[in-house]
Amino acid sequence: MSRTKTIRKKTSKTAKMVVKKSIKKATKKTIRKNTRKKAPQQIKKEPFVLQPLRGMKDILPQEQPYWEQVRRVTEKLAREYGFSRIDIPIMEFSNLFVRNIGEGTDIVEKEMYAFTTKGKNKVALRPEFTAGICRSFIQNGMHILAKPVKLFSTGPVYRYDRPQKGRYREHHQVNYDVFGEQDPILDAQIIQIASRTVQDLGIKSIQIQVNSIGCPTCRKDYRELLINYLESKKSKLCQDCKRRLKTNPLRVLDCKEDKCAQVSASAPQSISHLCEDCHTHFKTLLEYLDELDLSYIINPQLVRGLDYYTKTVFEIWSGSEEGKKLSLGGGGRYDKLIESMGGHEMPAIGFAIGMERIVEEMKRVQAKSYSPPRPKVFLAQLGNLAKKKSLKLFAELGKNGILIAESFGRGSLKSQLKVANKLKVSFTLILGQKESLDETVIVKNMATGVQETVSMNKLVSIIKKKLKTDNVVVYHHNK
Ligand code: AMP
Repeated sequence: MSRTKTIRKKTSKTAKMVVKKSIKKATKKTIRKNTRKKAPQQIKKEPFVLQPLRGMKDILPQEQPYWEQVRRVTEKLAREYGFSRIDIPIMEFSNLFVRNIGEGTDIVEKEMYAFTTKGKNKVALRPEFTAGICRSFIQNGMHILAKPVKLFSTGPVYRYDRPQKGRYREHHQVNYDVFGEQDPILDAQIIQIASRTVQDLGIKSIQIQVNSIGCPTCRKDYRELLINYLESKKSKLCQDCKRRLKTNPLRVLDCKEDKCAQVSASAPQSISHLCEDCHTHFKTLLEYLDELDLSYIINPQLVRGLDYYTKTVFEIWSGSEEGKKLSLGGGGRYDKLIESMGGHEMPAIGFAIGMERIVEEMKRVQAKSYSPPRPKVFLAQLGNLAKKKSLKLFAELGKNGILIAESFGRGSLKSQLKVANKLKVSFTLILGQKESLDETVIVKNMATGVQETVSMNKLVSIIKKKLKTDNVVVYHHNK
């Protein structure tokens, strides 16, 4: 190739590269330009806060023995009284609550966590259980089940209220509902369960408050009477109650403001204006409560804030003298709710207790919390082969009802025995290299220090026997 040719070729190569480079540059520029054009607005970074939302809290492991006690006692009572468990979603369409709890209620008006989803659905976190349970009752045709249908549920509920002691934005309730009976014996039974729940949890000093707010027929006249009275005292009411006078006049009666309480004290009382049916219902309920030796007070100001209640309403209060008294639970009849939601005629009654308040009260009165069964056997391993075999042996003992502890992450026998001592176990099983090969285990009695080597396939029966003679109860998973 001649020199000129080579130069030409080189030049054209360089030229091509220059063209390529400038195309690349141009494309980059366009991309950058386009990107700049289309770049979304910078999202302002929210500060990262290491705490839960206001009014919400963790239930830490050290608190769990109280919570476990509440779970156990409430589940036991639910079973004893023939309730079946139901779990419903935490979130529902907002109008389920708006329509059925009532627009003029505090829960709906002020406290609901309501928002619109990406799919444009208006939804809300449940502020209570009953509306959702009734939705499910109708939707799943539970009206055909043998009456009464008794449903039990537990879980979190959400209310955007001003947080304070005993009042949280996320709290947990245990909820009981009974469908299909209008006999006041059910009201008495529900109150009996509510008070047993609290008392079985060690809260002995309680006060049961009952009232009847009548049915839609007698309440209509009573409501008129109440409005007339409240209108005449309007100037003495708080701003909220002035508004409630129009939206939910009964609610004025349980306003906690002093000036409103004074007005309520002389207000006409619903129990003096009940129709014959409601009057008999209430009287019979009180007779049942007397028969049950459940002491109660009639609180004419007790109305419970929700629109769906009819006839009986009640609350259980802690009997604590000091501090602010808070209701531990409450409920009532809602004979028309299922029908008004489009279901069959279905009288019903229910109640809910607040788990946080129950736990706080249990602590205050030093009630018993749940103490889980403690392991009486510790499994220690030494060496690679033993370590490998230890997981299987651990599971084998567990499957046979022997609660066992371990500290597999530790290598030395000394440090593992230290843990075993701390746990105050009766026996430590030692699995070393030799034992792993021989299919044996060393059983060390922690009280006497005596050690014996036993065959692996006899280990379960030997340990069970030892634990029994050691007067230690063998733990069973199903109990
Ligand atoms: P209610 O139906 O509103 O009376 O609620 C039933 C029970 O839940 C109450 O008696 C309380 O024990 C409990 N509770 C209600 N609201 C809250 C709240 N904001 N925080 C904690 N517990 C609550």
